[in-house]
Amino acid sequence: MIASVNDLLTPISIFGYSFTGQILISGVEVECMECKKDRNLNNCNCTYEPCSRKGVCCDCIAYHLKNRELPACCFPDDAEKTWDRSFEHFARLVGAGRV
Ligand code: SF4
Repeated sequence: MIASVNDLLTPISIFGYSFTGQILISGVEVECMECKKDRNLNNCNCTYEPCSRKGVCCDCIAYHLKNRELPACCFPDDAEKTWDRSFEHFARLVGAGRV
């Protein structure tokens, strides 16, 4: 059930199908786009298991950028496992020619 406009910022799945299109709620037309979560998970190297943002890349990058960090997929697997997603860690890896 859609409780607020904010709920529309997350993907909508109805009967197993991702919704793409426009919804009219209280006279407000809202654009929704298909979430590629299942496909994204195939390329996600994140080892932090309890995270609810896994596969929802738009939420993932917004969360990390807000904390001056980058998502797991920006790091090589061994560096990702440290869970240090800071800009500084990424810059050190760039300096070392690892990314
Ligand atoms: S990179 Fe961060 S936000 Fe993204 S799935 Fe992993 S722990 Fe969650």
